[in-house]
Amino acid sequence: MRNFLLLAVCVFSINAFSQKTYLQVGKLIDTKNGRVLEEKTIVVEADSIQEILDGFQSGNGEIIDLKSKTVLPGFIDMHVHIESETSPNKYLEKFTLNEADVAYKAQEIALRTIKAGFTTVRDLGGSGVNVSLRNAINSGKVIGPRIFTAEKAIGTTGGHADPTNGNSKELIGDPGPKEGVINSIDDARKAVRQRYKNGADWIKITATGGVLSVAKNGQNPQFTEEEINAIVTTGKDYDLQVAAHAHGDEGMQRAIRAGVKTIEHGTLMSEKTATLMIEHDAYYVPTLSAGKYVAEKAKIEDYYPAVIVPKALEIGPQLQQTFAMAYKKGVKIAFGTDAGVFPHGDNAKEFGYMVEAGMKPMQAIQSATITSAMVLKSERDLGQIAPGFKADIIAVSDNPIENINTLNEVLFVMKDGVVIKE
Ligand SMILES: [Zn+2]
Repeated sequence: MRNFLLLAVCVFSINAFSQKTYLQVGKLIDTKNGRVLEEKTIVVEADSIQEILDGFQSGNGEIIDLKSKTVLPGFIDMHVHIESETSPNKYLEKFTLNEADVAYKAQEIALRTIKAGFTTVRDLGGSGVNVSLRNAINSGKVIGPRIFTAEKAIGTTGGHADPTNGNSKELIGDPGPKEGVINSIDDARKAVRQRYKNGADWIKITATGGVLSVAKNGQNPQFTEEEINAIVTTGKDYDLQVAAHAHGDEGMQRAIRAGVKTIEHGTLMSEKTATLMIEHDAYYVPTLSAGKYVAEKAKIEDYYPAVIVPKALEIGPQLQQTFAMAYKKGVKIAFGTDAGVFPHGDNAKEFGYMVEAGMKPMQAIQSATITSAMVLKSERDLGQIAPGFKADIIAVSDNPIENINTLNEVLFVMKDGVVIKE
């Protein structure tokens, strides 16, 4: 009996700590140097990549045969809403769902997201379930992508992230900074500190009106520059960077001057604003998928509340042109989709839209790997298949440099050295 126990302990420790995995791969996308390498073996130990060998090698450990596949680092989506998903009933859900309902749903969304090859996401706003989900995934209780979350987005009264927009007078209330609604510099500081206390990794603000909020204007500036300044400087104290949702140009400029790290959507960005982004080292997260989806659904009667339809029809189709302009001007682009506004799991369609608008396939892949890793301050852990990096590895059937749409069908996913999809 004692021998058996000893053996069991030994087997467990070998499996958990020292066994290597050899991934024999036909093609490997070297995101750092923008090259496609041929016939390599990736050696994974525990949660990290140990070395890359030439040819197909093996050793004492499991072999995974990806000889006919192209392998890439797990993708990073810089703009998702992991707690929610589009449906005609979406606007009722705040009255009909309990927190536990949201949590179960989010768990399923997380699984779908990682199976689509997205091993890391930045979640830009929900109710707080996002923080619990992140913790549950990190502790191995739930399978899903690595999450960096903004917890609840910060807006102003009646602004895009005001959670009581569109409610009856009885239910409209007066949410304050605790709920992410601010109306002064003091409120701004309190809202950031509250997010820190609630466990956020990022701060999200809605610098202008938005398409899907129950409000008339989709592009007006909704913060004073002083308020955004207070958010950015308070965020710095807590090591929280700021992402700004913005459609209109004026709100975008205020956010960039105040020092936000990323501009989300950026729909009506002028060339002047694009230049301002370059000067301030801000990154553009285009979310072309969301623009396409809302413009299409707005044509279906009653899919969205009436006040949303004209905004979706105007702003949706504009995004791809803006993306093309920003790309040509040399604005740094991080990959982000706004998944949740369209069904989760379709995140990779964004690659096709980026390429359609003029970006080279390798650059689109880099935007979802090395560039996004840089924005997340994780450039030493994520975004590359190289020694010392996290073993986040995915595989597709074709070479995406020749066929970008192959990324829509991810066949194999490993995260932290653990196979999620085979
Ligand atoms: Zn969003």
